[in-house]
Amino acid sequence: MDRRTFLSYNAAAVAVPTALTTFSKAAKAATTPDPIDFTSNLPAPGGFPDKWICGSESLMDNTDPPVQVHWYNAHTAILRQNKAYSYEAPFAPLYFGNDRVLLLDEGFTTWRNDWDLRGVVDECINDWCARNGRDPEDMELLVAFSHLHADHYAAVNQFADRPKTRYMGLTHEEMVGFWGMTNFPEEQVTLDLGGRDILIWGSPGHVISEFAYYDSYTQILYTGDMFYRGRCYISFWEPWFESMGRLIDFVNTHPVTHVMGCHVEISKDGQDYPYGMTWQPNEAPVQMTVEQLRETYEFAKTITEPGIYFTGTVFLCNQTRGTTTIDVNPYRYS
Ligand SMILES: [Zn+2]
Repeated sequence: MDRRTFLSYNAAAVAVPTALTTFSKAAKAATTPDPIDFTSNLPAPGGFPDKWICGSESLMDNTDPPVQVHWYNAHTAILRQNKAYSYEAPFAPLYFGNDRVLLLDEGFTTWRNDWDLRGVVDECINDWCARNGRDPEDMELLVAFSHLHADHYAAVNQFADRPKTRYMGLTHEEMVGFWGMTNFPEEQVTLDLGGRDILIWGSPGHVISEFAYYDSYTQILYTGDMFYRGRCYISFWEPWFESMGRLIDFVNTHPVTHVMGCHVEISKDGQDYPYGMTWQPNEAPVQMTVEQLRETYEFAKTITEPGIYFTGTVFLCNQTRGTTTIDVNPYRYS
């Protein structure tokens, strides 16, 4: 199988043998509804919850579901891991197209019996198919992630034996190869979910192998861990600054409704929730504005040395390794 048949630039060139498909196509045609239009009246409206499940004082007594499912709109779900199961509490968008579903990031817990991400994703796909007159067996699942950190791919193996599922590998070469990129990070490719395009390009800096994802339907720009409402750990300043420049170029040329990172580690009034904290009762929203991205870029232009800087929206932890904002001494190398 060509692993990249979902990319729009070569999807049209794939020849499907007629003899293999005619019968099933004819049988399906009688029951399959018209394709959903993902290209008109954009951006597709949607909403974030006023408050996410954000842990609890006593995690042993936590009764919230392991994964919170929020439907941003009828064709877009955003999942979040319960902080009782991982302090990282990563978010994971789930984008539906006519042919396939994209899951971005897979949380920080491996085992299904601890934390059944696959079961939740399957439920979401079943719900969506029921609402839209589709057969879940016709939908391909792409299990992808923003970057190679365990809080973003720990549950990837839950999907290893799932039918009609493809996922990114866990090396840089496999990741760029999955998206058919030959010029990382500048090259931008288009993933076709079946009438719904996702634009993808490289966004290194937090780590070297990181990607930005833009959904043309909701116009949400997903920035993973390189820009999120919390401590942006910047391991490599120059690539990160260039990645920020690419994001700015992008928002200058494309409509963006929300910029969304993968974590929240900050309160509504700008307090840092310390590393490892499992209860964030007053946490800030996950979504950010284009203006906040621009302000951060302008702020970043003034940074000339390692340290932790608060921009008003995010902490930029420039090459500070394990130093945190609650360490008394100090934020910078001497
Ligand atoms: Zn992370």
